[in-house]
Amino acid sequence: MRGLQGKNVLVTGGSSGIGQAIAVRFAEYGANVAINYLGHAQEGAETEEQVQACVRRVRQEGVRDVLVQGDVSKEDDVVRMVDQAVSELGGLDVLVNNAGIQISRPSHELSTKDFDKVLGVNLRGAFTCAREAIGWFLQGEKPGVIINVSSVHQRIPKPNFLGYSVSKGGMQNLTTTLALEYAGRGIRVNGIGPGATITPINRAWIDDPQKKAQVEEHIPMARAGTADEMAGVTCFLASDDAAYITGQTLYVDGGLTLYPSFRDPWSSE
Ligand code: NAD
Repeated sequence: MRGLQGKNVLVTGGSSGIGQAIAVRFAEYGANVAINYLGHAQEGAETEEQVQACVRRVRQEGVRDVLVQGDVSKEDDVVRMVDQAVSELGGLDVLVNNAGIQISRPSHELSTKDFDKVLGVNLRGAFTCAREAIGWFLQGEKPGVIINVSSVHQRIPKPNFLGYSVSKGGMQNLTTTLALEYAGRGIRVNGIGPGATITPINRAWIDDPQKKAQVEEHIPMARAGTADEMAGVTCFLASDDAAYITGQTLYVDGGLTLYPSFRDPWSSE
């Protein structure tokens, strides 16, 4: 893909699922990659094996890599993490805000602690990473790109996952507002909106054929997506082929955002 060779990329939550596929795909296109990992047991955290597997796959491509530990919900960690990525890679051209968690609870039973926890990772984390990256882009007077890994749930409500839904709705506004604010200074901000994707965050259904079939029957293309399919679109948005695109979220969802229940007309016949 045009314009990715030699670029320096930071991927948050970059060792598992969609983040790992993104880190590996950037490396395949010749970009150097800083892989952020959480590094301690917490809901939604990666395993040590995932971190090592990701590093191995990135190194196979012969690009520079750096592992950066950090919790994106902690401001100090984010500042250190972006500094480390910049100093060890020798600069920063692309930030991928991918780290994300979800907590399932009926909304009337959801504690403020759990609500804040999801928002802290998915939305405030994306903001602080973006702020630090933009500061660096402006200081270096170089163009920069931010890709937010959002979700179809930035548009489709997700009952029992209120914090998640709200965080992704906020992410849409993070994308559009930052895109508008910095468009004149060479910084593009876009998002991808994955639909149901085969990754560890969906461990509740991916290995259960019956539950998987139940999920897939709602998807117009009749299958879940792969992390690799999310990675390709992320790299496209970061590439020079997308040089005139900013403020957009590209849904990568097999048609999930097309109101599938309207496939067979029922409302006016
Ligand atoms: P995953 O659980 O495999 O990956 C999540 C990653 O985030 C892990 O690497 C984890 O270590 C990291 N993470 C969690 N908390 C963190 C923190 N505080 N600081 C730093 N890293 C942290 O799941 P995934 O499906 O690959 O999710 C990646 C992104 O894709 C998330 O933002 C998720 O909301 C989004 N998404 C996934 C799906 C799907 O169906 N899998 C659909 C839509 C959107």
